Amino acid sequence: MSFSTLGLAPSLLNAIAEIGYDEPTAIQRAAIPAMLRGEDVLGAAQTGSGKTAAFALPLLHTLLERRGGARQLHGLVLVPTRELAVQVGESIRKLVSHLNAPVKVAIVFGGVSINPQMMALRGGADIVVATPGRLLDLIEHRALSIAHTATLVLDEADRLLDLGFSEELNRILALLPARRQNLFFSATFPPAVQKLADGMLHQPARIEVLSEAASQPAITQRAIAVDVPRRTMLLKHLIQEHKWRGVMVFVATKYAADHVADKLNRNGIRAASFHGELSQGARTETLTDFRSGRLQALVATDVAARGIDIARLPAVVNYDLPRSAVDYTHRIGRTGRAGASGVAISFVTADAEQHFRLIEKRQNQRVPRETIPGFERTETAPPVSGVTDTENGGIKGKRKSKKDKLREAAARAGGE
Ligand code: AMP
Repeated sequence: MSFSTLGLAPSLLNAIAEIGYDEPTAIQRAAIPAMLRGEDVLGAAQTGSGKTAAFALPLLHTLLERRGGARQLHGLVLVPTRELAVQVGESIRKLVSHLNAPVKVAIVFGGVSINPQMMALRGGADIVVATPGRLLDLIEHRALSIAHTATLVLDEADRLLDLGFSEELNRILALLPARRQNLFFSATFPPAVQKLADGMLHQPARIEVLSEAASQPAITQRAIAVDVPRRTMLLKHLIQEHKWRGVMVFVATKYAADHVADKLNRNGIRAASFHGELSQGARTETLTDFRSGRLQALVATDVAARGIDIARLPAVVNYDLPRSAVDYTHRIGRTGRAGASGVAISFVTADAEQHFRLIEKRQNQRVPRETIPGFERTETAPPVSGVTDTENGGIKGKRKSKKDKLREAAARAGGE
């Protein structure tokens, strides 16, 4: 199937050809025609599915059609993090750069001075990509109005709620016109996300490509049993054995990110840490180095890594397990992208065994434990107090809930 059957303007087809996309991804095939018909869209999709172009192309199509008159905000794209804001905004700008049209895309996010963003919004913008808090600040400063927005895009809605943006979202929704098109993308649909979608969307076209990424045969999931102090050396061994050009290593804390990156460097692997305490400049530089291959390993926390796009990562390693099955899905979704194969490896220490079983259960998938010669697991899990037998029920009335166990395991793994 080709892009030309989706109903997009010739100038956009031309831009797509120049960028080099041969054919639309699953989400693009489904979302683009629905958006062009003016429908709301509910997309179960994660980063790597091509969802940015899936909403950006129709957004630009309707913008080009409606041109004329004063500049009004046409599309508002809300994202959970500044990295994602930059990434999504830059992808849209890339498309625009292949169009012969003066489309202004503004990218705004918190954690940096508001003044340059206010300046950039002078004269309005056609598309604004924003994190919710900063968007509200800018509206309060009268730097922009969203009262006439034609299309609202919520990108990574589950992350937006995870990060506690629910109140900001409600305030933003109240400022938007009642009549508008809504696009809602999320990798997962826990009840709070579903509720938000139900409240926002009108008979949406439902598009699911979630299972594609999660169960994609292109992503091989592995779990290696290892002792806590042996993890860095195992990581080094794997990087050297597989000759990975780029590996994203997930850890639980900023401290662990610095520590693991440092230890890898001392062992001849070019690595850098990537966490929320780094300045925006340092993060951008690190990402550039990683993308260009100057760095072999990026050691990141979930918060910092959320939503950043690094095409076709050969491997992802869960050095510390993620706190939740949702995070697990997000992490492993970073490998095996756009048809390239990839491997997601989880280090399972004795302490984390119970926690990993819960992740497997939530995912409905067993990942066999492997042992790498020289790195055999010797530690055993400490007994869980108050419970004699965690598998078979233990003391009645004192049995821990799944949530308690998840929390405990996350705490043992050294949660942030
Ligand atoms: P996204 O899911 O939007 O983060 O996109 C993931 C990656 O796929 C990005 O690097 C895009 O440039 C790329 N991409 C998006 N659409 C296509 C397509 N139709 N063909 C090939 N690559 C694509």
